[in-house]
Amino acid sequence: MNTGTGISDWNALDDAQRAVLLARPALSNNEEIRDAVRRIIAQVRADGDSTLRALTRRFDGIEIADFAVSAGEFAAAERIVPDEIKDALDAAIRRIEQFHRAAMLADVRVETAPGVVCERVQRPIEKVGLYVPAGTAPLPSTAIMLGVPARLALCPQVVLCTPPTRDGGCDPVVLVAAARCGIRHVYKIGGAQAIAAMAFGSETIPKCDKIFGPGNAYVTQAKLEVAQDPLGAAIDMPAGPSEVLVIADDSANAEFVAADLLAQAEHGPDSQVLLLTPSRAVLDAVATALERQCALLPRAAIATAALQYSRLILVKDLAQACAISNKYAPEHLILNVREPRSWLAKISSAGSIFLGAWSPESVGDYCSGTNHVLPTYGYARAWSGVSVSSFQKQITVQELSPAGLQAIGPDAATLARCEGLNGHERAVTVRLQTLEKNA
Ligand code: NAD
Repeated sequence: MNTGTGISDWNALDDAQRAVLLARPALSNNEEIRDAVRRIIAQVRADGDSTLRALTRRFDGIEIADFAVSAGEFAAAERIVPDEIKDALDAAIRRIEQFHRAAMLADVRVETAPGVVCERVQRPIEKVGLYVPAGTAPLPSTAIMLGVPARLALCPQVVLCTPPTRDGGCDPVVLVAAARCGIRHVYKIGGAQAIAAMAFGSETIPKCDKIFGPGNAYVTQAKLEVAQDPLGAAIDMPAGPSEVLVIADDSANAEFVAADLLAQAEHGPDSQVLLLTPSRAVLDAVATALERQCALLPRAAIATAALQYSRLILVKDLAQACAISNKYAPEHLILNVREPRSWLAKISSAGSIFLGAWSPESVGDYCSGTNHVLPTYGYARAWSGVSVSSFQKQITVQELSPAGLQAIGPDAATLARCEGLNGHERAVTVRLQTLEKNA
């Protein structure tokens, strides 16, 4: 099988060629997708459930009478899903909960001047909507990656949307995962129409304040669209097609590297995988292993399509590899090198990092404890993955005593006067004068 994997020598390329090499798979029909998504959102806003039914018929090929998953469907899922899967879900949830709880932001209280107390308190976002993809394959792991932090944040209303199965049901493992996270409001609806429904509400689906979760190009575009509408909803991040960048030295096992690249490639035809290595031997061995391993995958067709965008790049040394990786800002970065921790400080942009030969990216996808909803498309330069704080608002508080206002009020008055905001100045001086009169 020809996977079409491109091998390049970074130092033989000029800047323009390097930019092309690190370009994400261009969505050739980007405008088409945007227009289609805008039409879907407008229809859902205008006609609610009846449009949702029509779009589900059109895109998912199924007639859905009631989008809401019933208690009977939850109970059936609990019976159908084998114990082995439930045990693995429970263990994954325990570790994800453990890590996310430890990483929660603490409340802060600081006295910045005598009598001036500043605080930061957290409050859950009231209504959150979780999207669990299920187009090419249902992703119950996404249900727990979103459900666990939502529960830790104590969000009062959590709804989950996921595309229906071919028979009009809902993937039973997604249901078990949702139930384990305390989520009982699950709707069988996918794509841009699900995002529109959660952003604006319909007869069945409640309007949400913030929408979370990855998805295909339609889902991602819909999230971007509703986030721009003041009547829509906030979003976690534009989490699009998955990507991994592996940095390997001559100690790396080519079979491991190829397996890691294929683990991402099988996500979707628009996934992107890159290898940076100073070892020509590793590069050639990975290219060979990729061809062989890809042919063995049940999702070989998807992985092969994704490998058209893959890059196997020869670099001068590991320092150059880290610099290139920072420029690309991958969603997942695997450092399959000797003493990987010694390179960690050199990494400035990545969604999640996997250190050493024994840390495959798959464990982060499922059960190490970190979150797998991560920024793609270079957004890792400025965005972070989902965490409990994504489900919370950080509210600041200040409380001043009379002595506190006397201590800092004159600074505020001076700065307000400097900005020509006399109303601001007066709100301070009127109090200071009262204090002086009463002294
Ligand atoms: P999906 O649930 O995102 O999309 C399926 C839905 O798309 C269907 O229900 C259908 O309604 C809609 N759809 C299909 N064709 C359409 C069309 N022509 N027009 C309008 N709507 C249409 O599932 P998927 O397609 O499997 O995509 C999952 C994506 O999520 C992959 O790209 C994967 O890489 C990505 N992912 C990203 C992360 C991350 O953290 N960044 C994590 C997991 C998965």
